[in-house]
Amino acid sequence: MNIRFYNARILTMQEGQPVFSGELWTAEDRILYVGDTPPAGTPRAQAGDRPACWDREIDCRGNLLMPGFKNAHTHSAMTFLRSHADDMPLDRWLNEQVFPFEAKLTPQDIGTLTKLAILEYLTGGVTGIMEMYLTPETIAAACSGCGMRVVQVGGCNNFSQSPELLEKWYEELNHADPLTSFQLGFHAEYTCSPDLLETIAGLAHRFRAPVFTHCEETLAETQGCMERYGKTPVALLSELGIWDFGGAGYHLVHTNEEDRRILKEKNIGVVTNPASNAKLASGIAPLSEYLTDGIPVAIGTDGPASNNCLDMFREMFLATALAKLRTGDASAVPALEVLRMATVNGAHIMRLPETDVLAAGKLADLILLDLQQPNMQPVWDIPNNIVYSGSKSNVMLTMIGGVIRYELCGGEQRFHIGEEPADIYREVEAIQRRIFMEK
Ligand SMILES: [Zn+2]
Repeated sequence: MNIRFYNARILTMQEGQPVFSGELWTAEDRILYVGDTPPAGTPRAQAGDRPACWDREIDCRGNLLMPGFKNAHTHSAMTFLRSHADDMPLDRWLNEQVFPFEAKLTPQDIGTLTKLAILEYLTGGVTGIMEMYLTPETIAAACSGCGMRVVQVGGCNNFSQSPELLEKWYEELNHADPLTSFQLGFHAEYTCSPDLLETIAGLAHRFRAPVFTHCEETLAETQGCMERYGKTPVALLSELGIWDFGGAGYHLVHTNEEDRRILKEKNIGVVTNPASNAKLASGIAPLSEYLTDGIPVAIGTDGPASNNCLDMFREMFLATALAKLRTGDASAVPALEVLRMATVNGAHIMRLPETDVLAAGKLADLILLDLQQPNMQPVWDIPNNIVYSGSKSNVMLTMIGGVIRYELCGGEQRFHIGEEPADIYREVEAIQRRIFMEK
């Protein structure tokens, strides 16, 4: 498909480039051109490789094109646990309300529950997710079928998945579909034996690959690791060589100065999950310190059981608001920095560099935001509007790999994912009835 977006404001997220008015063209899965509107009659050579005809021309009416949001940490299929066990501490929530019910899920259930999350991602302008959950094959199939870009990471621990499976998925799921990829990962230090951690370090070295994991989410987790090993999780994983080829830690709420020195030295990313950390009373991540230290930060929603929504607008607001509260400094983590975390940094940490900014040759993963809404007026500082007053109700269109997967047409939501939302809702209800009502 050759698509022309014209009459747009454009925020490319390229360093130092302000919002400008112009147009953007896509061809197949790529951005062909982004820039000023070429004057009528401009020779082809000066206007990029303009296609002979358009499959579709979209008048953006002054609204904003920007890169789609990257949700850098989620457990999508936990949609079935949404609002099921709220207002509980993390350990009880996990052991009493999550693990026993997850045990009843089939691989097919997980695919269906992931599709429910995909509907939510699309309405919220999310064009890529970093996923950690069970049965990666059915998750890959659900994402591929609906057109969602996904980077899965292993959730290996003492009770489920195994290094052999990690290896198998790493080799098989990285070449199956351009929308899906797989990275090494494990659940967390506290659910993995020392032997298992060493085996994962061995895999990282064999594949020369980054590794992703939950890390220092709660104070109890960090203290438990100190008791078990005499060092923090960050120091332990670093010493084991797990992060010798990069990677990222999810949460990283309770790091100390030495942890941050290690993260910087090894160029390990931080994926912050402010809503989940707040709701589970885990704490506030030291984002200002990460920024000062030059540690890359991305943003994730975490799963819908602990958040409970998959909304990057809410995460962006919380990321900056909580950083301001934590430091007592209203200038902490400004809006443009937050927007960079939710787009460019997410793309880099997720190993999707071709989706980071809007530029010719990059993948066409982008969104159109409605600025003609009360919460986005006046149009004075667009990045600040998006972070401080924007909401998912401003998302008019979500494109992934050059395909429009979601759009608002005259107020009506249209999904182009090959399935009807009502059918997905019905299937999810049936899964819920089976899991929670049948003995
Ligand atoms: Zn998580």
